[in-house]
Amino acid sequence: MPRMSKGLPIKQKIPGVKKVLLVASGKGGVGKSTVSANLALAIQSTGKRVGLLDADLFGPSVPKLLNLTGEPRISPEGKLLPLSNYGLETMSMGYLIAPENAVVWRGLMVMKALQQLLFEVQWSNLDYLVIDMPPGTGDTQLTISQQVKVDGAVIVSTPQDIALIDAVKGITMFNKVNIPILGLVQNMSYYVCPKCNHESHIFGTEGARKEAEKQSLDVLGSIPLNEEICTQSDKGKPIVVSEPSSVVSRPYFDIAKRVL
Ligand code: ADP
Repeated sequence: MPRMSKGLPIKQKIPGVKKVLLVASGKGGVGKSTVSANLALAIQSTGKRVGLLDADLFGPSVPKLLNLTGEPRISPEGKLLPLSNYGLETMSMGYLIAPENAVVWRGLMVMKALQQLLFEVQWSNLDYLVIDMPPGTGDTQLTISQQVKVDGAVIVSTPQDIALIDAVKGITMFNKVNIPILGLVQNMSYYVCPKCNHESHIFGTEGARKEAEKQSLDVLGSIPLNEEICTQSDKGKPIVVSEPSSVVSRPYFDIAKRVL
């Protein structure tokens, strides 16, 4: 356990990592993991060394998104060695235990596993570690926010009001623990026709922008609802790697430039 100061844990640096970015969302299914993986790869494309930590202990997505399986090897120092694909180092609970076994864990075991994922992975001198947070504002999110030195958080939301309201809870939590919020990513916000690339703004364009303004946040970018994003993720080859020059990949690269 980290040391305490005035009842609060002291924030620690993650060994082997220069900067930590959180990708968070108020609820599940808004595309947070897809954004995390594509954003990490887009940052990597600027020449940085990047890792992706899947902090969703009960619903890990990184193994599938990056087509990685198998147990991590242990270094001579007893640290977990990341698994890599497309040049990206990754660590996930999904490599260590079947998710159906993790759901019966009690609080203490969950916290122990989280400490191991956060502080006992042998990252190799990363410029950036992107942490794919679990959805919502529960114990895991609070532990990470309170114990880890974080450089910034990206909030992912869909344009529908209900998702925006959920995202606001996440924003409030980060403000409370003094984590700078870099801005909002609006996912599935418009439709790009796969045949002619025509853009239809089916949910309007104002929702996220107005909410962001109310919270004094920047909109980092808007990502379309697009079949290719989904099918490439399912194949374990995120769109920024499989189709880097597609119009659909462009927003991820633009967002990467904004968060660096
Ligand atoms: P979360 O991490 O918020 O639970 P995921 O990243 O797992 O969400 O995405 C949920 C589903 O939506 C996945 O099937 C994913 O491929 C799909 N998806 C995510 N973003 C998009 C998008 N922009 N267009 C189409 N499908 C998407």
